[in-house]
Amino acid sequence: MLIDNHNRKINYLRLAVTDRCNLRCNYCMPSEGINFAKNDKLFTIEELVKLSEIVVSQGIDKIRITGGEPFVRKDLMVLLRKLAALNGLNDISITTNATLIGPHIAELKELGITNVNVSLDAINKQTFNKITRRDTYDTVHSNLIKLITEGFNVRINFIVLDNQNTEDIIPILELMKHYNVSIRFLEEMPFNGGSKEFSTIKWNYKSIFNHIKTTFPKIEKLESPATSTSINYKIKGHKSTFGLIPSFSRTFCSSCNRLRISATGDIITCLYAKPSANLRAILREGNSDESVKEQILKAVGSRAKTGFEAQEKYDGIFSNSMTSIGG
Ligand code: SAM
Repeated sequence: MLIDNHNRKINYLRLAVTDRCNLRCNYCMPSEGINFAKNDKLFTIEELVKLSEIVVSQGIDKIRITGGEPFVRKDLMVLLRKLAALNGLNDISITTNATLIGPHIAELKELGITNVNVSLDAINKQTFNKITRRDTYDTVHSNLIKLITEGFNVRINFIVLDNQNTEDIIPILELMKHYNVSIRFLEEMPFNGGSKEFSTIKWNYKSIFNHIKTTFPKIEKLESPATSTSINYKIKGHKSTFGLIPSFSRTFCSSCNRLRISATGDIITCLYAKPSANLRAILREGNSDESVKEQILKAVGSRAKTGFEAQEKYDGIFSNSMTSIGG
């Protein structure tokens, strides 16, 4: 079992399988000039499987596949088939922009991979196009509805962006009210490949809540798992639920159970922390599984207590893009 230096149990890995994406969300990366990693700096599928086996042997029982856009990798389903057969891995989840998932929905269901987070920051097509700098709203919407109606456990991630999509907060709650889905509103974080720097945000979880409450005064707070990053609610009469994720306010660090491995193999123990070691290099240098385990133990044993403490020690935040970290 992985226990960090603040006595937090780590059982959840977020694994970025690529840094490439077919969208260009303006809060995540610049429109061009992005230094995507060369192919040989990304893990092969065999390496991803090996790494997963190693972390599962150390007590990780949940892996979220993220990126970049995971489905940009043509060999993604090969990895998912192998992970679905991995003993000890109880939960395989995916975070996706839902542009390319359509042809794989049936097989995902067969594999039992039903936890899918869909990123959707607007339901107004023009707003969607402006944020993502691409024109794929119709595909995303139809794949989202297909996932929900096929019985997947779907959560929508909506990043609240000042002056961009706040007019869609109430409409997305209205649009989804008859569906079994959770809409999670996230605070914007400063990982955008250097597009903009900020040290405060207007739309924090409290202002998002107040905004929603103005239109929907009858809101019930729901019980959430201890390690949940979202504070969850239900609006009276809605089948859907909604959540607020204080990703910038960082109120949930004390129960954080996550470890991240970036697309190029860096171990990241907190979104706001500097990478600890590069596992791709360690794996490729022909080291034993034990050396990989040691590096993971070392990283887990020297975690910052909070995202604020991590940020104090790291001045490279604004040049980072979530497309490499994986969210
Ligand atoms: N391509 C997939 C997707 O769109 O969900 C997975 C990768 S994406 C980097 C993972 C999550 O990070 C998405 O929900 C995205 O909205 C979020 N994200 C990216 N940049 C962010 C930022 N600057 N602040 C907050 N969330 C961000």
